[in-house]
Amino acid sequence: MSAEDLAGRVRNLARQRGALILAHNYQLGEVQDVADFVGDSLELARKAAEARAKLILFCGVHFMAETAKLLNPSATVLEPDPNAGCPLACMLNARQLRGLKAAHPGALVVTYVNSSADVKAESDVCCTSGNALKVVGAQPRDREIIFVPDKSLGTWVASKLGRELILWDGYCPTHHRITADFVRQARTEHPDAKVVVHPECTPDVTAIADEVASTSGILRYVASTPYKEYVIGTEVGLLHRLRKLHPDKRFYHVTPFADCPNMKLNTLEKLLWSLEDMEYKVTVPRDVAAKARKALDRMLEYV
Ligand code: SF4
Repeated sequence: MSAEDLAGRVRNLARQRGALILAHNYQLGEVQDVADFVGDSLELARKAAEARAKLILFCGVHFMAETAKLLNPSATVLEPDPNAGCPLACMLNARQLRGLKAAHPGALVVTYVNSSADVKAESDVCCTSGNALKVVGAQPRDREIIFVPDKSLGTWVASKLGRELILWDGYCPTHHRITADFVRQARTEHPDAKVVVHPECTPDVTAIADEVASTSGILRYVASTPYKEYVIGTEVGLLHRLRKLHPDKRFYHVTPFADCPNMKLNTLEKLLWSLEDMEYKVTVPRDVAAKARKALDRMLEYV
């Protein structure tokens, strides 16, 4: 079956079942193209929370589908491949976070959404890369802040706000493949291009970029600047969206190695099977869900 036929079948079945298809900016191009909405973690969380549909097919990685379920508990949330996890989210568990809290009594816990529901349940407030500066910046200055699990994002937030944060040694393996050497090489190859990178990149990379922004921030930067060429330092899936939105501009990735294998586990075939079999349903234990939802609800107060 051609990709076009498959996409048509996914769309038809989604319509019959009344399903809303949400896809992250890092998904395969053909998955983005069948989605009702494509966005970053914050935008997808908002969409899931506001969705009227009783069925959401979430194309991203597990913590994102879990977040959708937490924010819209009455909806059935399906993920096309339950193996699509996030290595960053797996770098911290609830027991480890409890240990960190015990070592810093009185500290507030700000947790990046790239984390499990168990970890969110131990947190005061969540954030995404899109609103991390606002969330951390709004916390009282006289309180210590534990920021987990991404040390690169935490380091960037700390330097932007001039505030010390207690960090965890977590990182995104995909964004850490975007090295400063690759950025310098890309600048040599594309001397007229602006370099825009994601804050999950290492500090030596964010230090030499023209702009540091979340995926939706990168989209806004490109839409609001007059340049013709951009070198993009985030997961390569975002280039599909950028090229579609701005056919008059040129986009280059810093490195083709910034390709998240987990994000790419979702294929059109799996989307179709998921809708046919109503698999794989995302569930969160009730006691964990109640606490995790509070941290997520607080996150949504920061636009
Ligand atoms: Fe996790 Fe990084 Fe992949 Fe995003 S790109 S899902 S943070 S491993």
